[in-house]
Order: sequence, then C-alpha cells, then structure tokens
Amino acid sequence: MKDFYDVIVVGAGPAGSTAARYAAAGGASVLLLEKDRDVGYPVRCGEAVSHEGVIQFIEPDPKWIAATVSKFRIVVPNGSSIVPRLDGIGYVLERRIFDYELAKVAAREGAEVVTKAYVYDLIKPNGKVEGVRVLIKDQKVDIRANVVIGADGVESRVGKWAGIDTTCHIRDMESCAQVTLSGVHVDEGILDFYFGDRVAPGGYLWVFPKGKDTANVGIGISVEGAKEKAAVRYLEEFIEKKYPHAAVLTRIAGGVPCAKTCDQIVKNNVMLVGDAAHQVNPTSGGGIISGMIGGMIAGQVAAEAIKENNLNHLADYEKRWHKRLGWRHEVFYHIKEAISTFSDETLNTLCENASKLPEEKRTVGGIFRTALWNQPSMLLDVAKVFIS
Ligand SMILES: Cc1cc2nc3c(=O)[nH]c(=O)nc-3n(C[C@H](O)[C@H](O)[C@H](O)COP(=O)(O)OP(=O)(O)OC[C@H]3O[C@@H](n4cnc5c(N)ncnc54)[C@H](O)[C@@H]3O)c2cc1C
Repeated sequence: MKDFYDVIVVGAGPAGSTAARYAAAGGASVLLLEKDRDVGYPVRCGEAVSHEGVIQFIEPDPKWIAATVSKFRIVVPNGSSIVPRLDGIGYVLERRIFDYELAKVAAREGAEVVTKAYVYDLIKPNGKVEGVRVLIKDQKVDIRANVVIGADGVESRVGKWAGIDTTCHIRDMESCAQVTLSGVHVDEGILDFYFGDRVAPGGYLWVFPKGKDTANVGIGISVEGAKEKAAVRYLEEFIEKKYPHAAVLTRIAGGVPCAKTCDQIVKNNVMLVGDAAHQVNPTSGGGIISGMIGGMIAGQVAAEAIKENNLNHLADYEKRWHKRLGWRHEVFYHIKEAISTFSDETLNTLCENASKLPEEKRTVGGIFRTALWNQPSMLLDVAKVFIS
C-alpha cells in the first residue's frame, strides 16, 4: 500500500467496488478500503436484481445466481393475487459471491483492495479533505488522496465527516428484517410480494426463492408502521403461519433509505455513492443496481477530474446522476408516498380491477394506470415532479 492515491474509495459494497473499477479504468490510482474481513460478508439484502440492471456491468454467472425469476406476484390483504407480465427476467443473487466478484473486477482494472481496513476519520487539516485515517490490523495509518469516495452504506459517516447532510428523515427510513429459510416449498421462478396493514404496514413483505427449497423471506416497513410492532415481529408471525417447520439459516436486520437522493452528493473533493448518497429506488427499496450506476458515474468523473487536473470537474457527478437516475427516483418517491396511503380495501380493489385487464395489458404499466384511476391524487404527486 502506498501513502498517496488519486482516489480512495471507502466501502467495498456494489457501489464502492463499481466506483473503484471505473476510476481505475479511467487511469486513476485507486485504493478500495473495506472494514470487514471478507468483501460481501455479512450480507444484508434480499438479493433481487433485474437482468437488465446486471448486464450493464457484468455477464451473469451461475456461480453468483441462486435463482432466475421470470415473474412476480402481488398478494393483497384478502389473499387474492395478480401476476403482472414481465418483459425481462431477474435474479436472486448470492451476494456474498457477487460482491466479491465486483471487487475482483475492480482489482483487475488496477484498484488495490484492502480488507479489515476500517476508516475512522478523514484527514482534514484546515477543513480541506486530504485523505483518510484507517485502522489496519490494529495500526492507525493516514493515507492521502486527491479524491475520497464514500461508499460506506446506509450508516455512512464519510459524508458527515465531510460536512454533507446525509440525514434520512425517519419517515423515509424503512425498517427491514429478513431470514433465509430452508425446507420451504417455494415457486422457484417467482418473486412474491405481500401487501396490507396486517402483513407489512406502509411497506411490503417478500419471499424471494434461492433454489428449490430455500428463500429469503423479509419485510420492509415504515418506521411509523414499526412503532406499533417491530418489523421482525410481523415477519415472525408470517413465518409461523406460512412456513412453521422451516429452518432459519440466517437472520438480518437493517435500514433502507427510501428517500430522494441526498441534496448534496459532492462536496469539494468528496463524493458519495450508493446507500451513502441515498441512491436507492424509493418505491422498491432496491439499491444494488442504482448504487452501481452511481458508483460508475462517480468513478468515471473522478478519473476525468484527475486526468484534467481539475477537481472542480467533480461537480459533474451530481448533474450526471440526476440526469441518469436521480430524476426517476424523485418520481418513484412520490409514487411510494401515494402507495403507502393505500388502505387494504384499495389494494383489494386494485387487484380485482387489475385482474380484469386483458392478459396483454396486465403489465406493471397497466397496473400502475389502474392504480392512478383508483387514486387520482397519485397523478398529482407524480405531476408535481415534472412541474417543480
Ligand atoms: C433487508 C434488506 C433487503 C434488501 N433487499 C434488496 C434487494 O432485494 N435488491 C436490491 O437491489 N437492494 C436490496 N436492499 C438494498 C441493498 O442491500 C443496498 O442498497 C446495497 O447494498 C447498497 O450498496 P452500497 O455499496 O451502497 O452499500 P453496502 O452494500 O452497505 O456496502 C457498504 C460497505 O462499506 C463498508 N463500510 C462501512 N463503513 C466503513 C468504514 N468506516 N470503513 C471501511 N468500510 C466501511 C461496509 O462494511 C460495506 O461492505 C436491501 C437492503 C436490506 C437492508
């Protein structure tokens, strides 16, 4: 390890490894630091991604694909369900291996990867960020860099240290819990989503297959919803009813920032990517691919800034992110707000109306239009995004 790099990336999740990969591919010297002993472990994720999302970055490989899915099913409070038509396919990943692979790709591009390296502060004499302070094998080391990219996840501290407001309003923080169950009967090709006040108030519960008899069963609900009963309790009740004899292989809990992107994601020579920048799809809570897109743009812009010897160029990252995905997340945010107000009756009616749609119109778009018909105020919310 050197004591100076063009770019230091803090955190080797999907966003960090992708930022490191593209910064290195652009010609920058890059150091990727991960606090855990192993990249990709522990996993805190439902692990579902779309094929279209993945292939932008990496060829699908059976070694990190636990299941391939071609459908999803929405189950509403009265037990009825609808299976919208999907144009593409999706995967349930083995993120332990997927994240590892992404870090390997970054290394192949020339990034140095160091694990068990906990960044505990930024080097900031006179307020200017000059690098990071790291604890490696119980030793405190200062490493300097022109650019620091914070990819340190939902509990990000890099942003705060740099003076960026990364606070996620409690209303937008989804409280999540998940178990991986074995010995369950699941439909291998379908992602199941359960909605309703009794199952997952203000959010949803998912069953994502991971092979023949294994599944990630998890829940994400608004912190408001979790006030009455913790997310994990809702999950346990569902499992007791649906999979009473299943073996629990893993248990995790965590938060997902289902918010708009942070107002500021670049400050001077510090950039934030992934969950640290709130680059999560606010409707679905999915953040793997969008974090990678954020990481890719940040890495590219950082390399360009180094090449041009012009750190002011880093501000371009914010513009490119909003043009590529940030604006869509604003729309999704308003959709999420509207959906979270749907009563159980509305959900039941929505499912009934959607199931009357002819097969070819039973798409996500078709169901969305039916939802707008049921809840015209949602249209106003969406329109606001375009006129504000
Ligand atoms: C229960 C649950 C289910 C989810 N399901 C899905 C899903 O199905 N599909 C989907 O797309 N998204 C899902 N998400 C969201 C998804 O997991 C995140 O959006 C994604 O992991 C974000 O990637 P990231 O690289 O920004 O952060 P992370 O994956 O959190 O990676 C951050 C990395 O930074 C490291 N780090 C943190 N602090 C430091 C430090 N100080 N020094 C060094 N390293 C540090 C961490 O150890 C970690 O490896 C889910 C989230 C939860 C909680």
